[in-house]
Amino acid sequence: MHRPGGARAGAARRVLDLLRTQGVISRVELAERTGLTAATITNTVRPLISDGLVREIGRDPQPGRGQPRRLLQLVPGAWHAVGIQVDRTTTTIVVLDFAGGPVATADLPGTGGRGPETTVAALAGHVEELLDRAGVARERVLGVGLVTHGPQDLERGVLLTAQPGPDWLEYPLTAALAARLELPVLLENDATAAAVGELWAGSPQTDTFGLIYMAAGIGGGVIVDREVYRGRASNAVEIGHVALTGSSRPCVCGGSGCAQAEAAPHAVVARALADTGFADRFAVTGARDGTLDDFDRIARAWRSGDRDAAAMLEQSARWIGRAAVTLVNLFDLDTVVLAGPAFTVAGTLYRDHVAAELERLALSRALVRPKVLVSSNAASAAALGGALHVLRTMRIGAPPRPGEGEPAPP
Ligand SMILES: [Zn+2]
Repeated sequence: MHRPGGARAGAARRVLDLLRTQGVISRVELAERTGLTAATITNTVRPLISDGLVREIGRDPQPGRGQPRRLLQLVPGAWHAVGIQVDRTTTTIVVLDFAGGPVATADLPGTGGRGPETTVAALAGHVEELLDRAGVARERVLGVGLVTHGPQDLERGVLLTAQPGPDWLEYPLTAALAARLELPVLLENDATAAAVGELWAGSPQTDTFGLIYMAAGIGGGVIVDREVYRGRASNAVEIGHVALTGSSRPCVCGGSGCAQAEAAPHAVVARALADTGFADRFAVTGARDGTLDDFDRIARAWRSGDRDAAAMLEQSARWIGRAAVTLVNLFDLDTVVLAGPAFTVAGTLYRDHVAAELERLALSRALVRPKVLVSSNAASAAALGGALHVLRTMRIGAPPRPGEGEPAPP
C-alpha cells in the first residue's frame, strides 16, 4: 500500500483537499492554488492516479490557449469515512465518499441517561446498519470521526468531563468503538468539527470565521486562514464556559455565570417548565432524554407566533450574543456561524439577536459590520466535519482491490 511520508504526504494532502473542495480542477490550477511547482504537482498526482484515488476526466477545451488541460477529480468510491456526532440530546451519523459526498445519514436520539458502554454498542450497530444500507464495503472505510463535546484528550480518545454522566469521564471511547467496528476511530470536538464542515461546504464565504455550536451544551470553533485553531490540545474556544457579567447561575463546569448555564436548551426548557400554563399548552415534558425535543417545541411555538416562547428564546439568544462578542473580540472575526441541532428551528431568531449584540458591542464594529449566518446543515454539520476530519488527516493509501493484489507501481 502506498504510504507517502514527509513533504510528499503534505503535498498529497493539499492536492486531495483542493480536489475535494473544487470537485474538478486541472494540474495548472492545482499549482496556482497550492503554490507548488508544476513538477511537484505532476509527481504528487501520478501515484494518486495509479493508486486509484484520483482520475483524469476529459479535457478543458481552453479556446485559443493551446494544449487542452486534462482535468482531475477524486474517485468517490475509493474510500469512505463515517462521522458520528453524539451528545446527551442528539446523535447524527453520516457516511461520506472519498470526494466528500454524503451517501447515507441517520438522525437518532442522544445518549440520554445511558452509559458509555451501552451507547458505544448502539453506535456500532447503527454504523454497521448504515454501511450495509448504503452498500459500502467495510474494507473501503478509512475510519470513523467520533464527535463530542469537550474537554477531550484526543490522543487517548477520552472525555475529560463527567458529562453527560459520571461514567463517561475517562471512559476509553475511541478504543471501545474501534474494537467493536474494527476500524480506526478519531475523536474530535463538536464545534471544531462543525467549523470544518462549514469550511468545506463553503457557506461562510471567508477563510477566517468563528462558529458557535449548540446541542446539549454550547461550544465554539475558530477557523483561521482555512486551518482549525486548536490551541495546545484541541480544547480551545470553549465559549460556552466564558463567564458573563450579570449572571451567577451555577454551571456543570464548576464555574458560574457561563453562557451555557443561561442559554443552552436545558436552561430554556427549565424556564418553560416553570410556566405550567405554557408547558401544558406546548407539551413541554422535561423528560431527561427529550431536552432537544422540548426545546424544538418551544421554537415551533415561537414560529407560530407565541410571545412567551419568543421571550424565552430571546433571553437565551441575548446571552449567546454576549458570548459571540467575546469570541469576535478575542479572535478579530467578521463572520460568526451558528451550527448544531439546537439552531435548526429557531436559527433565524438567534441569528438576529447575535447580530444585534455584535453591532452594539463588538470592538471592531466601526471597521466592519459583523456577519452572522445560520449553517445550512445546522443539525449535521458536526457529523459531516467528523467524517471530513478522517478524510483530511488519516494516511491514505490505495483502496483494496480484492483478488487483484496491490496496484502496479507508477
Ligand atoms: Zn461553565
